[in-house]
Amino acid sequence: MNIIFTEPIYKDYIWGGKKLKEKLNKNTPYKKTAESWEISTNKNGISKIKNEEYKGQTLKKLFENQELREKIFGKRTKELKEFPLLIKFIDAKENLSIQVHPDDKYAKQNGLDSGKTEMWYVIECKENAQIIGGLNTKISKEELEKIIENNQIKEYLNYIDIKSGDSIYIPAGTIHAILEDTLICEIQQNSDTTYRVYDWDRKDKEGKERQLHKKEAIETIKTENIPTIVYTTEELESQKIMKSEFFEVEKINCREYYEDCSDTNTFYAINVIEGKGIIQTETNECKIEKGDSFIIPATLGKYKIEGNVQFLKSYII
Ligand code: ZN
Repeated sequence: MNIIFTEPIYKDYIWGGKKLKEKLNKNTPYKKTAESWEISTNKNGISKIKNEEYKGQTLKKLFENQELREKIFGKRTKELKEFPLLIKFIDAKENLSIQVHPDDKYAKQNGLDSGKTEMWYVIECKENAQIIGGLNTKISKEELEKIIENNQIKEYLNYIDIKSGDSIYIPAGTIHAILEDTLICEIQQNSDTTYRVYDWDRKDKEGKERQLHKKEAIETIKTENIPTIVYTTEELESQKIMKSEFFEVEKINCREYYEDCSDTNTFYAINVIEGKGIIQTETNECKIEKGDSFIIPATLGKYKIEGNVQFLKSYII
């Protein structure tokens, strides 16, 4: 087994900027890029594999290959219909829309693949940056409906201060928005369903407002939900920054070297967020740097990372 490197898919949504190119070395064709989908089998952007041995194949194809499934993705993926995660880098030059994502139950009832619980790791942001997460007061579902219908949601949003290194857990059903000047790594369930509640009265290139989905949003919002924040410290070599029923995420601060072994139960999805180094397996070695993403197969064995490098390691439980 070798480490599996994936090619990014770029999205030029209206709120994007230049940081994916400038800070994360992304070779995007767009002037402004909002998202780089790093590890994805979602139909709206499927990762291609960079490795020679899988040339021309996609991550989805590998996941659907019954001989390879357990070896690469681990025993826990055996019964899954879809690859469970979607990992992106997000450059919010401007505010994203106020939005919400459905949970698994709602997704199933409405013929969607999966709900969308997500987690953000703030790679960098402006001073005094904030995000929106949850509502700032207790209201009933009936009140929420009126507020959304009357376009008053802006007055009920909970603003949270953030700084680089923070990680924010947004369970499905939480009203939220990433706000301007924030560069994030997002780890989420494999879903691309977003219900927009409010889009700042903004217009796209054609002068049109983007579609809102008020009905679905009202059905989906859990008025009591607010995000959980975990603050990271660079003093720890490894810190668990996210634990949910869907996935776990560790932040690794590798100073000189980091030694680890794959887990036969799960793959590890790795996103390098700072620095550069070398990754060595028993048979191979290659350079890694900020902005790279790859998968440590479940049966890879021991691996070692050398260098001054920080990365996120996500897996299923
Ligand atoms: Zn979202």
